[in-house]
Amino acid sequence: MSKPANPFHLLLALALLAAGVHARAAPDDEFAACVANLQHAARERGVSPGVVQNSLGNVHFVDRVIELDRAQPEFTTTFAGYFNGRVTEQRVEQGRHLLEQHHDLLRRIYRQYGVPPRYLVAFWGLETHFGSYFGRMPVLDSVATLACDARRSDYFTGQLMAALKIIDEGSITAERMKGSWAGAMGHVQFMPKVFLKYAVDYDGDGKRDLWGSIPDAMASAANFLRGLGWKQGWRWGREVTLPDDFPYESAGLDEQKPLSEWKKLGVHDAYGRPLASADIEASLLVPAGHEGPKFLVYHNFNVIMGWNQSEFYALAVGRLADRLAGAAELVNPPPEDAPRLSRDQVIALQERLAKRGFDPGEADGILGPQTRKAIRRFQHANGMIADGFPSRDVLSELSLHVADAD
Ligand code: CA
Repeated sequence: MSKPANPFHLLLALALLAAGVHARAAPDDEFAACVANLQHAARERGVSPGVVQNSLGNVHFVDRVIELDRAQPEFTTTFAGYFNGRVTEQRVEQGRHLLEQHHDLLRRIYRQYGVPPRYLVAFWGLETHFGSYFGRMPVLDSVATLACDARRSDYFTGQLMAALKIIDEGSITAERMKGSWAGAMGHVQFMPKVFLKYAVDYDGDGKRDLWGSIPDAMASAANFLRGLGWKQGWRWGREVTLPDDFPYESAGLDEQKPLSEWKKLGVHDAYGRPLASADIEASLLVPAGHEGPKFLVYHNFNVIMGWNQSEFYALAVGRLADRLAGAAELVNPPPEDAPRLSRDQVIALQERLAKRGFDPGEADGILGPQTRKAIRRFQHANGMIADGFPSRDVLSELSLHVADAD
C-alpha cells in the first residue's frame, strides 16, 4: 500500500529534477557504503583484519564490469560458429603437444583423481588457450563491483568472501589476483568459491597457485571434476547417426533413455556401426538441427556442464578431448550456412509461431526450450522434420527472411 504523495516532497523532487540534481546518493558514496558493509561481513567470516583493511579497503568500482554484465549478444550463436572457433586444428595440435610434454604429471593426476589427461588439457585449451590469457582485471575490483550491484549481489558477495580467504591463506596477493571481468582466475578460470573448495597445491610449494603452476592447475581441474561426480572409465558421449524416420522429439538433454532404447530407435555410431551394449543412460543432442552432427551424451557430459552450463561448451570439451587422443574430425560437421538470428528476428519468429497457434511462451528473443518445442510442433504440422531447429525452411514457411551468414 503506497501512502498518498506528500505535496512538499513532490515539489522538492521537481525542484531537484529541474536543477539536474539526483535525489539518490552519488555512486561513489553508495559504493563506499557497500564496501564498508562488505568489510564488516568479511570480518564476521573470519578474514584477517589486515586483508579486510588493505585489500578490501582499496577496491574500486569498475563501470566496464557493469557494462559487460549487462551486455546482450546481438545474434544467436550457431553451433558451427561456436564449435569451429574453439575446436581448431591449431588447438588440437598444440594440445597434443602439451599432452606429451606433461605426460608424466597428467598420468599421476589421472591415477589419483580418475580424470583422463585428454579432458584436463581440453578444459585448459578452452578456458585460456593453454594459459595464454588469464584475464587482466583485478578480481577484487570485479567481484566487489558486482557484489555492490543489485542484479547478482548475493552470488558475488559469496565470491568476494572466497577471494579474500584465498588472499588470506597466502596463495596469492591482491595485486596478482587477476582474472576475467566476472572473476574467473588462472589457467583453468576458477571462480573464487570453486578455487577455495577445489584448488590443490600439487607441486607442494605450500601455495595453491592457479596462475603460475601447471601442476596445481591440472590437479585442481581434476579435483573439481571428481567433485562434480566424474565417472571414471566412461566417455563424455559420441557422435552418432540416425535413421531417416528418427523421432526427433526424443532429442534433448532432459530426455534420457538406456542405450538399448536408442539402439531400438536405429541409432548407430558415426560410422554406421552398432552401439556398444553398456547398461547406461544417454541423451541425444542435435545442436545444429537434423542436417548437422548428432551426439549421444552420457553422465560425464552432465559433469562437464557442472563446470559451465552450456551444451555447446560441453560438446566442445568432449570433442576436443577426443581429438587430442587421436580421433578424426566430425563425420558430419555442422553446416556453416545455418542462419544467425538477431534478437528481433527471434521475437518475430516467436510472434508468428504464436499467431499460428504454436505457443512459444513469452516473445523474449531467446531460443529457449519452449520456443524449440513450438518450432517442433510447427514443423510436425507442416510435414517437416521436427528437430525444433529454426532452419531456413522454417523461417521461409513463416515468411521470415534472414541474411546469409557472413
Ligand atoms: Ca603450489
